[in-house]
Amino acid sequence: MAYPEPLERLVASFERFPGVGRRTAERLAFHVLRDPTARELAGAIDRAVRETTLCRECCNVARRSPCELCSDGERDAALICVVEQPKDVEAIERSRAFRGRYHVLMGALNPAEGSEPGQLFVDALVERVRRGGVDEVILATDPDAEGEATARLVLEALGAAKLAVRVTRMARGLPAGGAIEYLHRGVIEDALEGRIELRLARRGE
Ligand SMILES: [Zn+2]
Repeated sequence: MAYPEPLERLVASFERFPGVGRRTAERLAFHVLRDPTARELAGAIDRAVRETTLCRECCNVARRSPCELCSDGERDAALICVVEQPKDVEAIERSRAFRGRYHVLMGALNPAEGSEPGQLFVDALVERVRRGGVDEVILATDPDAEGEATARLVLEALGAAKLAVRVTRMARGLPAGGAIEYLHRGVIEDALEGRIELRLARRGE
């Protein structure tokens, strides 16, 4: 038996969310009907859509465009850190280790789930670098299969545009506070591949 039309529409709306199938959509819809506080969701969605925008520079979600980070003259505009999601910007900002700008791709390449290169903000990055003033692009996509594929895509796009820009990748390897004996094989491989040279302290020089 079909649901009443308004309920069917609610289920269909949830079903369009990424990773939500029919059964989860139905569960969420019934939850909304039963829980009066869930009505706040409608207002929250409405506000989020009306009061946020995508930054025309870095493509991050922001209250205004250009966003706070892109308008901050103290930050190095010649250095762009490319990440998959807005939450990656938050994480790197928390580290206080980076004083450049960001570029948010808004996703990662996932051929298995049917995400296409066109859905990521790669062209916007290429255009940004083409406008000039960028010395280095740091690829900070996740260290998994999707992140690797996404980093390759960005690298190819920058290469195809024949841009004179330095491209680097965040180093991988040993987590601080860890013990080598418990590390995953891939972590050890990455750490060896990303090794850095140390200077010998020579006496008498
Ligand atoms: Zn921005």
